[in-house]
Amino acid sequence: MSVRVRFAPSPTGPLHIGGVRTALYNYLFAKKHGGEFILRIEDTDQSRYVEGAEEYIINSLQWLGMSFDEGPSVGGEHIPYRQSERKEIYQKYAQQLIDSGKAYYAFDTADELAAMRAELEAAKVDNPSYNSVTRMKMKNSFTLSKEEVAAKIEAGEPHVIRLTVPIKEEIRFKDTIRDWVVVHSSTIDDKVLLKADGMPTYHLANIVDDHLMGITHVIRGEEWLPSAPLHILLYRAFGWQHPEFAHLPLLLKPEGNGKLSKRDGLLGDFPVFPMEWKDAEGEVSRGFKEDGYLPEAVLNFLSLLGWNPGTEQEIFSMEELQNAFSLAKINKSGARFDIQKAQWFNQHYIKAMDDADLAEEVNTLVDNKELAANLVTLMKDRVTFIKEIVSEVPYLFDAPQKYDEAIAAKKWNDLAKQAMPIIIELLNPIEDFTTENIHSAIWEGLPEKEIKPGKVMQALRLAVTGVGNGPDLMLMLQMLGKNEVIARIEKAMGSLG
Ligand code: GLU
Repeated sequence: MSVRVRFAPSPTGPLHIGGVRTALYNYLFAKKHGGEFILRIEDTDQSRYVEGAEEYIINSLQWLGMSFDEGPSVGGEHIPYRQSERKEIYQKYAQQLIDSGKAYYAFDTADELAAMRAELEAAKVDNPSYNSVTRMKMKNSFTLSKEEVAAKIEAGEPHVIRLTVPIKEEIRFKDTIRDWVVVHSSTIDDKVLLKADGMPTYHLANIVDDHLMGITHVIRGEEWLPSAPLHILLYRAFGWQHPEFAHLPLLLKPEGNGKLSKRDGLLGDFPVFPMEWKDAEGEVSRGFKEDGYLPEAVLNFLSLLGWNPGTEQEIFSMEELQNAFSLAKINKSGARFDIQKAQWFNQHYIKAMDDADLAEEVNTLVDNKELAANLVTLMKDRVTFIKEIVSEVPYLFDAPQKYDEAIAAKKWNDLAKQAMPIIIELLNPIEDFTTENIHSAIWEGLPEKEIKPGKVMQALRLAVTGVGNGPDLMLMLQMLGKNEVIARIEKAMGSLG
C-alpha cells in the first residue's frame, strides 16, 4: 500500500513553527516512501475561524518548498479538502453510527448539562463527564423511547450526536514513536460527534476524512496523543482499520522547560512563525522569512528538532532529508528550540549561496550591481543574515563621524601619525585603484621609510572606518575610491592629531 499522509491544520491563526515541523515530517515521510502528501484544512469550528489563515498556511508551505499533492488549491481524488465543505459527508457517517447503535442522540440543554456537572462535582466525582453511567440520567436515546426521540427530531429540537463509549473496553494501540499506549474506555466520555448546528466536531471529521482519504500514517503533534484512544474507538465503531499513529515530541522553550509559546519569541527576540502575520487588531508577529532566514536554513533547523539522523551530520539539503528521514529516528523527548542553531544554519546557507545570486539579493538593498558584488565578496563569510551584508558596514556608505577611543588610544601612536601622510603620498599616484595596486603601493612604500605596514594597518582602518576591526581593508579601500580614502585619512589626522 502506498504511503499517504496529511497535514491537517485548523485555520485559527498563523501557523506556529511547531506546525511547520509537523508538516515537514509528513512531507519528508511521504517523499521518502514515494507517497502522497495531502493538505486538509480542518475548519469545522466556525467560532475559531480566522480570515487569511488558510492562505497563510499555504504560503508558508510554498515558501519552504513543501508542495502538496492534494489539497484545497490543487484538488485531487478526494475533493473537497476543506472540511467546512464536507458537512454532508460527516452527517452521513454520523447517521451510520446511529443506525448501527454506536452513537446516540442527546437533547440536553446547556443548563441541563451544567446542572449535571454541578451535581457530580458536589458528589465529589473525580472526573465529571457524560459517560456510560451518567448518560442514563440525561435526555437521550438511552432514556427516551424511540418514538419520543423521533418526535423531538421531527419537531426540530436542538440535539447532538454522541459516541456510545463502551463501558469496559481496553484500548491498546502502538504509536510508532511512543510505543504501546493503553487506556481504559471508562476514562473517556461520550464525545459529541455532530454538533447542534449540524457541523462535526474535530474528532468525527478527522477520522472520517483520514479513512476516506486513505491516510496510512497520522503524524502529528504530541498534544493530540490524548485524543488518539478516542480515535481508535471511533475506528472500531465504524469497523475501519486505523492508520498508524506517530505523535511527535513537543518543541520546548529555549531553556528546555515547557512548551514553546508565542511569548517565548517575544522574550527571546526571535520569531515563532514561518512568516510575518498581522492579526485583525493590527498586531504584527514576526516571521522567519521577514527576519531574513533562508528557507533551506529553516528546513534544516526544523528537521533536527525532534529527529536525528543517527550520525554526526547536521547539514542536510531537502533532498538529503528525504532520503535520510525515518520515523524510527524521532526522539521521544521534547526538542529545545535554540534560535542560535537556526542562525548557525542561516550563516551556513548564506556561505553556500552562489555569489551572483547573493549579489542580486544585495542589489535589491543598494541598487548598484558593482557595489553589491563587492559587498558580497567582502561580507559573505561574516554574516548571519543577508541584510547584514549592508548593515554591518555603514562606514562604506557614510564617512565615520567618530573614532573608537580605545583603538585610537592604542593604535594612533607616533608611528601611525608618521605613516599616514606617507600612505596618502603612496596612494595618490595610483591610477587604477584596485586592491592589488593599493596593496603593493603600501607594502613596497612603507618599508622604504622603515615602517612595517603591519604596525599601522589598524590605524589606517580606524582612519577609514572609525572602528578597529571589520572585513578586508584593501577591498574596502578599493570600494571607497582614492579620493574618499585620502579625504578620510586627512580628516582622521585632523581629528585624532
Ligand atoms: N486540526 C488539527 C490541528 O489543528 C489536526 C490534528 C491532527 O493532525 O489530527 O492540529
